[in-house]
Amino acid sequence: MTKTSDKAIVAELSRAVENQQLRLVYQPKVSLRDGGLMRVEALMRWDDPQLGTVEPSHFIPLAEQHGLIDDLTLWGLRTILRQWVDWRDDGLDTSIAFNISALSLQHLDFPDLVERMCRGLDVPTDRLVLELTEGATQPLVKLMDTLTRFRIKGIGLAIDDFGTGYSSLMQLRQLPFSEVKIDQAFVADVHRSRDCRLIIRGITDLAHGLGLIATAEGVETVEQLRAVQELGCDLVQGYLVAPPMDPDQLKPWKQEFRRRWPALMADDNLALWSDVEADALGQR
Ligand code: C2E
Ligand code: CA
Ligand code: CA
Repeated sequence: MTKTSDKAIVAELSRAVENQQLRLVYQPKVSLRDGGLMRVEALMRWDDPQLGTVEPSHFIPLAEQHGLIDDLTLWGLRTILRQWVDWRDDGLDTSIAFNISALSLQHLDFPDLVERMCRGLDVPTDRLVLELTEGATQPLVKLMDTLTRFRIKGIGLAIDDFGTGYSSLMQLRQLPFSEVKIDQAFVADVHRSRDCRLIIRGITDLAHGLGLIATAEGVETVEQLRAVQELGCDLVQGYLVAPPMDPDQLKPWKQEFRRRWPALMADDNLALWSDVEADALGQR
């Protein structure tokens, strides 16, 4: 991507926030014990009339670099809290995880603001989980005060993409996380790499020893699902369970998945599922 087009994206992005052109999709995280829905992760989507679909992995870093990230964060938080209320009114009580840029955490009053937003809409703070990623320039340890304030208010904190990049084991001990999300890279190779299994087992044991939930993300096949279950992970997220979806799809998906879970767990279906998934993944 050239500099000019990045510039165009930044200009369009500030308009997109004002003009409500962004939307959020939600991907379920289910319990590996019984397949029950535990949370959904909100993921941002931007379909621009001129630029087409711009991926979050492209526009989020640009928003961070050009001072737009706080606007995106606030828009996202307002949207997920309203969504939580809609789901609750529809009989669906789940937690929502939201990705927060470390830059938005630099304001010390941010936890108070989030708490006020929850209170304003009557959303219990323990239904909110913030997902954070360690960055080269934003060590999470520097945000200890802010992170602690969130936890005191009952808001959950997950460390995202754990095990790659800059994340370190020390942080798990020092910082007040409630959940560790094991990076997709380890999950992708779990059934063919002994190293990946050792790493997932190590992170999971450590998480449990420190009282944290371990989530495996990027699970696409039944083999991967079984492997992360055997390795002791608590929650699972990935295309096998569900892709990110529009909010009105969540309730029908939940009903359908409850029926699908026993089949995912049935041993004699393992070979059969592998063929179905190989076809499905080939088509994506
Ligand atoms: P992430 O937080 O690690 O999100 C997981 C990404 O993996 C998502 O990509 C999701 O669609 C994708 N994914 C889910 N299941 C599978 C699977 O089974 N296999 C594979 N290969 N991928 C899977 P997405 O939606 O493109 O988001 C990319 C990144 O952009 C996110 O990574 C997150 O870092 C960032 N992002 C997305 N939405 C937001 C947001 O609202 N705020 C902030 N600050 N960052 C966001
Ligand atoms: Ca995430
Ligand atoms: Ca992740």
